[in-house]
Amino acid sequence: MDFYRIIPLRENLWAISEVGKTVMYVINGQEKVLLLDTGFGLVPLRDVVRKLCGEKPIVVLNSHGHIDHNSGNNQFDTVYVGCYDEPGSHAQLTEEDRTHVRETYFSEFEKAGGVIPEWNPGPARQVIALREGDVFDLGGIRLEVLEAPGHSLGSVALFERERGWLFTGDLMLTWEVWGQLDCSTTLRVYGESIERLAALPGVTTVFPAHWEQEKNPAGFPECELPPRVLPMYADGIRRIVSGETPSVAYPFRGKSMRCVYFEIGGMAFDSDRLG
Ligand SMILES: [Zn+2]
Ligand SMILES: [Zn+2]
Repeated sequence: MDFYRIIPLRENLWAISEVGKTVMYVINGQEKVLLLDTGFGLVPLRDVVRKLCGEKPIVVLNSHGHIDHNSGNNQFDTVYVGCYDEPGSHAQLTEEDRTHVRETYFSEFEKAGGVIPEWNPGPARQVIALREGDVFDLGGIRLEVLEAPGHSLGSVALFERERGWLFTGDLMLTWEVWGQLDCSTTLRVYGESIERLAALPGVTTVFPAHWEQEKNPAGFPECELPPRVLPMYADGIRRIVSGETPSVAYPFRGKSMRCVYFEIGGMAFDSDRLG
């Protein structure tokens, strides 16, 4: 059992699944490659990208500043991240963070007989803040940055308009997403971000930053959500904010949060931070 797995998705598009817990994407243009997220930092990302795409400049971008998506940033000199997650993107993992990652994300893989290689996570030397409307033209593939505050303040989505690919980080999953974090926006702001994404023309596939096959009861192709997940989350969140939907208890780190499940996935939230 290998600690990472490469999943071919489209011509010039691959997912890298790391210990079955977090997903990165490699998008191969004619001139440049974009690596979306660096995961926990176990995977030798430069080698993997080179093997898939050859020798090209690699643009590295984080969907948001959480440690399951940016801990391999130190394998690169420069990384882009949404401007409101930039301040937190310079930190080294604390011992507490490391223990948390090992217990939360690595232990299942290790119990199943997997071996975690030497682990040296860390930040990139230089972090560049992304803004709405920034564009990465990779040559034949053009990725637009959309600010999507919600799960974290600085979450961004990437949209490839011609192909209808939408990369959404941790904004929506096949299980409940976390909108109740200290670094999350109010739920209303989260919903407004999803509504903007739902209004994009011609989305063909939504690519999320986590995928677990056992949490995919609808049997979607690996790492692919259908576009109807966008209005589903937008409507679902609108109903929560307007008080129309009953929620269930969602205990989280000693606090009593709430959760509503949708046909696909769901939304965990803080009932004191709706509006
Ligand atoms: Zn996250
Ligand atoms: Zn995550």
